[in-house]
Amino acid sequence: GSSRTGATDASSPEPGTGEQVIAAHPNQEFGDDPLAVRDTDHYTHEYVKGFVEKWDDLIDWKKRYESEGRFFIDLLKSRGVKSVLDAATGTGFHSVRLLEEGFETVSVDGSADMLAKAFENGQSYGGHILRTVHADWRWLNRDVHGEYDAIICLGNSFTHLFSERDRRKTLAEFYAMLKHDGILIIDQRNYDSILDNGFSTKHTYYYCGDEVTAEPEYLDDGLARFRYSFPDKSQYHLNMFPLRKDYVRRLLREVGFQRIDTYGDFQDSYSDDEPDFFVHVAEKH
Ligand code: SAM
Repeated sequence: GSSRTGATDASSPEPGTGEQVIAAHPNQEFGDDPLAVRDTDHYTHEYVKGFVEKWDDLIDWKKRYESEGRFFIDLLKSRGVKSVLDAATGTGFHSVRLLEEGFETVSVDGSADMLAKAFENGQSYGGHILRTVHADWRWLNRDVHGEYDAIICLGNSFTHLFSERDRRKTLAEFYAMLKHDGILIIDQRNYDSILDNGFSTKHTYYYCGDEVTAEPEYLDDGLARFRYSFPDKSQYHLNMFPLRKDYVRRLLREVGFQRIDTYGDFQDSYSDDEPDFFVHVAEKH
């Protein structure tokens, strides 16, 4: 990827080496032309400390807990899942939830800042000790060992991969780390609706805290740039790839998953324009 225009920090190791210095990137860096930043490696420059600290205001845990209910827990339990790899741990919401419910959980993220925050959250929400691994999905097998009953990649995280090659590589790594009858759960924002119909305000506050707004600032077929505004007037951005639902389903099938069920806002019947989020459940056998 040559599209990164921000100043790069040559002293920080690439993600996945497991040695990245915490808080290596204090400020977000998008350079002179933020719309040209369409690069999978850029996520570590986006989830900087200031943003990570605010992330849990953005994603109000209590509200999220209520809106999500037992969807993922019931799904995993109904399939006899015992071990779960949380591939996109972030600040740890799902890892903590899984530990609470007794799942054997390993928590992965490519951002050391996120893992540090998740570890802290694990301790404050119930005294859990998270088993964290700093790894990039594209080289997951190098850093994480063993096979899992389920892998989850939630919170619209897969959207950070900007090339099809990276998406295929990631899905191949996930596939390889599942047991023969394992399942992969990936969610995504409903980009089809935004690309085709524009962005409705109904979507603006989804999964946010009361005083935080998440709005698309720019959108084309290859980039969805969102702006997150906080009560203290600080603003952060994320550059994401607008994944179409059927494209993700096709990729999942093509890397070998046998059956893919897609839910819309946690329901199995929905009209395509309605949901804010889709959840794909892919079965290996
Ligand atoms: N799952 C959490 C949640 O729902 O609150 C976090 C979601 S956050 C939007 C996306 C996370 O994915 C970030 O913590 C980011 O560091 C991580 N991430 C993005 N691309 C990654 C990659 N290629 N390898 C590993 N982690 C990645």
